[in-house]
Amino acid sequence: MQRQPLVIGNWKMNGSKALVAHLATAFASQPELLGQVHVAVCPPAVLLNAWQQATQQLAVAAGVQDVNEHADGAHTGEHSVQLVAEAGAEYVLIGHSERRQFYADTEARVAAKLRQVLAYTEQPLRAVLCVGESAEQRYNEQTMMVIEAQLESALATVKADQLSRLVIAYEPVWAIGTGLTASPEQAQQVHGAIRKWLENKWGASGAAVQLLYGGSVKADNATALFAEADIDGGLIGGASLHADEFLAICTAAQARSR
Ligand code: PEP
Repeated sequence: MQRQPLVIGNWKMNGSKALVAHLATAFASQPELLGQVHVAVCPPAVLLNAWQQATQQLAVAAGVQDVNEHADGAHTGEHSVQLVAEAGAEYVLIGHSERRQFYADTEARVAAKLRQVLAYTEQPLRAVLCVGESAEQRYNEQTMMVIEAQLESALATVKADQLSRLVIAYEPVWAIGTGLTASPEQAQQVHGAIRKWLENKWGASGAAVQLLYGGSVKADNATALFAEADIDGGLIGGASLHADEFLAICTAAQARSR
């Protein structure tokens, strides 16, 4: 089954209204690219509205970098699924390693956030579940054990009819923001295993879930990564802050649509 290539930019706590305008202008000159590659940008939530306005005429989606696991209530500073959906988000990153490491996103919280996103049906929100091993876990040959445990925990209650709203991003922790990238072979090995895991659990609809690679993807390594059989696109941090670099990465994903 042909899976649509997908590239998502994660600005983390970076960006500005000026960058919103600059990137939107850069994408405006690429209608053919946007017809072949799904592109989404997750700016800081306070820039969501600016991003939406700047990209109204473009086939580029908006997303957020996190969401709260509760539907509403006394959670100062947090955003519910309904709030981010109403603000125009189509994608929600869940369980990014920075949130797991520094903001207490335990396996249970990650699972609860995913449940909130998939339970919300007013608008077609898609969840991007991030998984990945640390350098130490890779060194100790625990990579697949760690990733399977993350999948097992987060996806325990997911139903087959929710899978079209799920994306999985494999992001080795040691490769995020470090300039170290998994080799295409290393990344494919994990992606292939994740795809098999999904297929064993849900059959063809599991195998059809888009799998993104993230971890220091740049214009000069994207083509080789996206040439791998089970890498359907990328989750891009630092490079998504540079229009030329991000567009080149999206262009590298275009080859998968042919
Ligand atoms: C990320 O933030 O998900 C990421 C992959 O960052 P970077 O591309 O900067 O490594």
